[in-house]
Amino acid sequence: MENQTVETLGLLQERLCLDFVNTSDEHPSQPNADYLTSYAHLLEWSVYSKTISQEQAKQLHQLAGQYPEKADEALRFAISVRETLFSVLDAAAENRQPDMTAMQAFNGILARAMSHLHMTPTSDNFCWTCVLDENDLETMIWPVVWSTAELMTSHDLHYLRECASDDCEWLFLDTSKNHSRRWCSMTSCGNRSKARTHYQRARKPN
Ligand SMILES: [Zn+2]
Repeated sequence: MENQTVETLGLLQERLCLDFVNTSDEHPSQPNADYLTSYAHLLEWSVYSKTISQEQAKQLHQLAGQYPEKADEALRFAISVRETLFSVLDAAAENRQPDMTAMQAFNGILARAMSHLHMTPTSDNFCWTCVLDENDLETMIWPVVWSTAELMTSHDLHYLRECASDDCEWLFLDTSKNHSRRWCSMTSCGNRSKARTHYQRARKPN
């Protein structure tokens, strides 16, 4: 997905962590099904999802230009984190126990993410905030990991589903009234799947 823009991915904007996991249509990811093919794409996703600001992206883009190997390393790290998050969340979506290795990896990443968390006072209590470091090429990963931890401990986890399409492994929250949503999106996977069923039916001899 070299030439695709983040706008055309059709991310669902239900949860930050799901929008990150859904940057690939399949796991483990293949280049033709993965949006994260460059550090520039990782930055575009980060701005689009409001994980970092345009100014922060500019700064990181400059830094990536100065240290291209470090930017490549950050991209590889982002992809490996994404695959770990998918492994753990997909197990939850299918009511399975997560793979122990993935769970261990997740807890390792979580410990690092938590070192970037601060407690901030609000008008009537406190909230968690993720502090971004403008000199850290991996800074956008930490809010994503924290978003995953929040989803994993929330009631919404019961509504987590994997898209029913054969060629799409997007995760979504089925908050529909009778919890019968099957596809990540009706306009992409739902219609495609319906068209295929219709085609197969039409081909059947009478
Ligand atoms: Zn789908």
